[in-house]
Amino acid sequence: MMEEPCPRENAVLRAFQSGDVPAELAKHASDCRWCAASLLLARTLIADEAEVTVPPRGLVYWKAKLRERREQRERALRPARRMEVWAAGVVLLTPVVVAASAGMVLAALAAGGLAVTVAATIFVLRLRMG
Ligand SMILES: [Zn+2]
Repeated sequence: MMEEPCPRENAVLRAFQSGDVPAELAKHASDCRWCAASLLLARTLIADEAEVTVPPRGLVYWKAKLRERREQRERALRPARRMEVWAAGVVLLTPVVVAASAGMVLAALAAGGLAVTVAATIFVLRLRMG
């Protein structure tokens, strides 16, 4: 599913044409797929004497589809990831609560320390795996 044209496209093109580009608009142009493609096209048309390499249309389309699929996968996995966090929290905190409610302070502290260590390890591993 292709996205709708960006309503800020004309403002972005005018700003880049005038050379006076506010930082916020420059950031939008770099983040917005639609504006970035329009800017690339405009720069290609303007710089007819410069050597500009325009990627093949099929490559641009393939990259757009790849990005769209990746975004769809991330959206689809978001609820499952939330459930993972909740489940890990319940699993890690249950021994702490049980030990604390039984009056076993040292056991509760040990379970809490272990829970923090495991949670930090999982967090670091997930960061490394992307
Ligand atoms: Zn835009």
